[in-house]
Amino acid sequence: MCEAPSTSREHVPPLCIFPEQKDIESGEDLRKDLITVPSCDIHNSKKSKDDELMLFVLTLNIANNILAKRQGLTKILRAVLRNQNLPNHFFSKSSPVMSVEFQGDAISASLAKIDYQRFLRASTHMAHGLYFHHFGRKFKGKCSIFADFMLHYETEGAVKSNYNQRTVAEIVKPHFDQEPQYGNNPTVFSYSVLPPDDNGLIGGRMQFFEASNIYVAYIPCDNDA
Ligand SMILES: [Zn+2]
Repeated sequence: MCEAPSTSREHVPPLCIFPEQKDIESGEDLRKDLITVPSCDIHNSKKSKDDELMLFVLTLNIANNILAKRQGLTKILRAVLRNQNLPNHFFSKSSPVMSVEFQGDAISASLAKIDYQRFLRASTHMAHGLYFHHFGRKFKGKCSIFADFMLHYETEGAVKSNYNQRTVAEIVKPHFDQEPQYGNNPTVFSYSVLPPDDNGLIGGRMQFFEASNIYVAYIPCDNDA
């Protein structure tokens, strides 16, 4: 992300997202062959709060697979029991809601407001790391981030914004689905990349627990194209 010399390696995405073996009923190893990239001291050390936010936000999406639910009942629950104030670090407000599953079953859930700026920063950080891992060079340009599991809520035009977001997600998802999916623990994390368009823009997708998608538009600098 920067010009500083690398002094360590960091996991992309953060290690804490991947369930520990002791927390998995089957005892499966979901931390095999994880992706790491070179990192400088500053970028690596600033990250622990961001990693914690990502653990909460990426795991607790109600659409996620059973592994995420397991992670919620083990690692996340332990963290909250250690520090009961912890959720307040990430969720400034939460409201009870009803969610409807595909089969039409209603389940009670919570809608939580998150520190979105921090989420964007952490997602951009991951996007840079994956680019380096995939292409073997730094990305110099702007990353535009879009997460398909976020909703606008209690803001002006929220219903329309959510509708538009849903439409975009439905259009882009099949393109990524048909590309190769990378990552050796795909039930926790995988990513895919679209070939560049005429303007050199590359699309990337980071998928967590088979349901939570963060899309990245890698927009090149003009002088880089
Ligand atoms: Zn750095």
